[in-house]
Amino acid sequence: MTQLHDVLIIGSGPAGYTAAIYLGRAGLHPLMITGSLAPGGQLVNTTEVENFPGFPEGILGPELMDRMREQAERFGLESIAEDVTRVERIDSMYRVHLSDDSTVDTRSIIVSTGSKFRTLDVPGERELSGHGVSYCATCDGFFFRNKPIVVVGGGDSAFEEALFLTRFGSSVTLIHRRDQFRASQIMVDRAKANPKLTLLTNTVVTAVHGSAAEAAPAKPRIGLTLAGNSPAAPAHVTSISTRNTQTGEEGTLDTNAVFVAIGHTPATDFLKPLVQTDDDGYIVVDGDSTRTNQPGIFAAGDCVDRTYRQAISAAGMGCRAALDAQHYLAQQQ
Ligand SMILES: Cc1cc2nc3c(=O)[nH]c(=O)nc-3n(C[C@H](O)[C@H](O)[C@H](O)COP(=O)(O)OP(=O)(O)OC[C@H]3O[C@@H](n4cnc5c(N)ncnc54)[C@H](O)[C@@H]3O)c2cc1C
Repeated sequence: MTQLHDVLIIGSGPAGYTAAIYLGRAGLHPLMITGSLAPGGQLVNTTEVENFPGFPEGILGPELMDRMREQAERFGLESIAEDVTRVERIDSMYRVHLSDDSTVDTRSIIVSTGSKFRTLDVPGERELSGHGVSYCATCDGFFFRNKPIVVVGGGDSAFEEALFLTRFGSSVTLIHRRDQFRASQIMVDRAKANPKLTLLTNTVVTAVHGSAAEAAPAKPRIGLTLAGNSPAAPAHVTSISTRNTQTGEEGTLDTNAVFVAIGHTPATDFLKPLVQTDDDGYIVVDGDSTRTNQPGIFAAGDCVDRTYRQAISAAGMGCRAALDAQHYLAQQQ
């Protein structure tokens, strides 16, 4: 007979690991499905994290996630490195389908699947993904030493990536479609003070161009690109086409890298239509709780939170989801 787990955690970011620590210490033996491509979540794609309490000198994102995993494992967390493809309700339990075609049965679930990067959807982007178009400055910045770099976006992530990339590029141009930035003022001020960084506002990228004439940069990490190496694909980015959103004027900018930092989409498709989401795919929870519309399914972190989207806020919500799940399981007995 298949084992029936008390609680399954889906996703291995700060929300998932925090939930695992609380559930492990409560003696509930959580099982985690980590995701196959990005175990550790979004923070494994960044460098210094300076705003997570307890680390006065800051800590590298991957190291912070390793520490969270170790802490959760100390309290008995077990993990499976697959993706969840579907969740099915069977009476008072759930059957969770994994990418290797296996299933896990559980009484309760904490969904902490975070969000995925958005794409520009312009000609050349997909073809040149992995050949100069990137979604992860930390992974791929190194490949563009002394090359001109473009970053697209206007939020904190875009500014963080642009500032980081000034360590590598000969120049970094941050392109934003409006003249106001969503990023915090301190990030904008830092960018303006950086002599390598240029801010190009009221501008959109309309195409990415590439050439096979020169050697391509090394292939970025698998899983962070949209397309693999294809024989027909141009070897590397050479320029982008732009359009001014105010005047309509078209332009061209020479660059060898385009880092896309225009936001995220919550990774919640696998829950539909069982669990209620809003129009953008964020999971809907009941008031201040982490309860979803399905009894025994709780949600935490960036897959719920469109506002704060920080490691500490995700971790805090993971704690609340664990306590909500404990309360639910106690009531079932
Ligand atoms: C470049 C960058 C820099 C950042 N810097 C900071 C910072 O300095 N400080 C800060 O506080 N925050 C920072 N953030 C934000 C922070 O990383 C997120 O707010 C936080 O990671 C969200 O945590 P989470 O647990 O909700 O989800 P995530 O960290 O997104 O983790 C989600 C997990 O779910 C898994 N998953 C997804 N779908 C499935 C599925 N179907 N089945 C199984 N698993 C699945 C993924 O593999 C992943 O492991 C940064 C983000 C980025 C992108």
